[in-house]
Amino acid sequence: MIKITLPDGNVKEFESGSSPFDVAQSISSGLARNVISAKFNDTVVETTTPLTEDGSLTLYTWNDPEGKKAFWHSSSHILAQALEELYPGIKLTIGPAIENGFYYDVDFGEHSVSEKDFPIIEKKALEIARGKHDFKMRSVSKNEALTYYKEEGNEFKVELIENLQDGTITFCDHDTFTDLCRGGHIPNTGIVKAFKILNVAGAYWRGDENKPQLTRVYGISFPKQKELTEYLAMIEEAKKRDHRKLGKELELFTFSQKVGQGLPLWLPKGAALRERLEQFLKKAQKKAGYEMVVSPHIGQKELYVTSGHYEKYGADSFQPIHTPKQDEEFLLKPMNCPHHCEIYNVKPYSYRELPKRYAEFGTVYRYEQSGELHGLTRVRGFTQDDAHIFCTPDQLDEEFKNVIDLSLYVLTSLGFENFTAQVSIRDMDNLHKYIGTAENWEKAENAIINAAKEKGLNFIVEQGEAAFYGPKLDFMVKDALGRQWQLGTIQVDYNLPERFDLTYKGSDNELHRPVMIHRAPFGSMERFIALLLEHTGGNFPLWLIPEQAIVLPVSEKHEKYAEKVLNSLENNEIRALIDDRNETVGKKIREAEMNKLPFMLIVGENEEQANTISVRKHGGEDLGSISVESFVDLVSKEINSTLKSF
Ligand SMILES: [Zn+2]
Ligand SMILES: [Zn+2]
Repeated sequence: MIKITLPDGNVKEFESGSSPFDVAQSISSGLARNVISAKFNDTVVETTTPLTEDGSLTLYTWNDPEGKKAFWHSSSHILAQALEELYPGIKLTIGPAIENGFYYDVDFGEHSVSEKDFPIIEKKALEIARGKHDFKMRSVSKNEALTYYKEEGNEFKVELIENLQDGTITFCDHDTFTDLCRGGHIPNTGIVKAFKILNVAGAYWRGDENKPQLTRVYGISFPKQKELTEYLAMIEEAKKRDHRKLGKELELFTFSQKVGQGLPLWLPKGAALRERLEQFLKKAQKKAGYEMVVSPHIGQKELYVTSGHYEKYGADSFQPIHTPKQDEEFLLKPMNCPHHCEIYNVKPYSYRELPKRYAEFGTVYRYEQSGELHGLTRVRGFTQDDAHIFCTPDQLDEEFKNVIDLSLYVLTSLGFENFTAQVSIRDMDNLHKYIGTAENWEKAENAIINAAKEKGLNFIVEQGEAAFYGPKLDFMVKDALGRQWQLGTIQVDYNLPERFDLTYKGSDNELHRPVMIHRAPFGSMERFIALLLEHTGGNFPLWLIPEQAIVLPVSEKHEKYAEKVLNSLENNEIRALIDDRNETVGKKIREAEMNKLPFMLIVGENEEQANTISVRKHGGEDLGSISVESFVDLVSKEINSTLKSF
């Protein structure tokens, strides 16, 4: 008999040789029907793998990320078989599961594949899937494996096998198809009910441009047709919401080849939006006890040598700026922290004066490879909503709670409801690789976990994920399309206070090192606005949107009245504009809809007579004819429902 420990801590006895599937069946037949993959003592196994020793077992269904991984990995085998049958003589290389789906890199030789071939490949793959073929792993000797692929003439697999240790090599068979594989499959092909080829692209063997070019075939598969339909609809929606497309349509930002790649230019509407976001955060930060500071865009190279950034990033970054003076070198600021350390260093502090909280909308420059640049999410110059808190170890608890409060306030005011957090702590088996005392680390880790608990965060703790200089908490948000984004990090740092020799006088009259906390709820203004655009589809919260209303006179006759309306809106701090072009109201409404204006205020004969406006909401809802005062009330109610005071 063997003892199997389940994730809930339950220990059950099974006959040696029982499989994860048998374990699932002993729990419930429903689970047995749905289990598609498993992990035994940290190793991914098949649901059919015989278990012959005591250990802990986790069972996965499609709803687990690990289940999806097994599903998509297995689907890449099906894709490979389909391609081999359709295009004889091709050479298969590698085919992993990825975040959404899977790919296979293939040397198509004389064949080529393009979009018009996708339906044929999909049909073939589904045919194979419907055969309900079991995935079966078998061990092979290195010699057998090499012979198999040498006979096939596949030099890619031969190269892979040559780098493997004899005795560790396995093949996976299903139907008539065999592949070199380490395992991690679903029970059989029949579970795959929907199959879609998404894309083909060029890829180099082993990612090396001096090596042969291959074709990467991307696909995705699902256990239900309905899920594929939903996924494809989500992709379509994501294309519509692409921040690069919306940013252009809404005239928020642009890029210029002359200015340089990855250097965004903010247009007036985008600049106003940024300004409003900054004001919003500044106001909350002021209440939370932050003080604004300003630092220059460059700093002496020595500053970054002291901070350690030069050693770590110097070679891959913007290179030093030289001056007429020999040996004088400056760097574009890659981070604000070193400057803020020097601001702290301006005078000695006693523990009674801490914490010090320095905030700055600091623009930094990082050299990203041009292939990595992407709209506003990956740029070379961006502004962080940065702040550094310098406190005593005993103040960490309180400071962490405050930073979490502020971050939650920011996220909820901007319409994010679906967020989680990850707390990264030390790898307890490798304590030597962290700087700072064990006592302080423990204090900080406990402070983060307690604060997360007390604030009711939905969080997970990841051991071994902390940086060498301190533990951290990352916020993750799910956007309206269900995509996960990493946002605002709260990072404890024992390193920079050491490097910059920061001190404070404790109650014992001795000098101590303060703890430093880095935090940025938005991360960067650029990336955050990109995320906000994609999350809201450009329909920003009313308090933030550049223009809240547009007045649409029915004809020239009503322009005077329209201007009067605009005037009283402006007097009530509603951001509005007027469309007095000689166009039909229908056309004006269509354009206002495209420009995502939340309210259209139509004024004609009846409205002018009754001293009212006809209000139409973005999306078409008709709010009828009301007075300007009622409209002002309506706007402020809607704003107050999302934007609470901090
Ligand atoms: Zn496999
Ligand atoms: Zn920092």
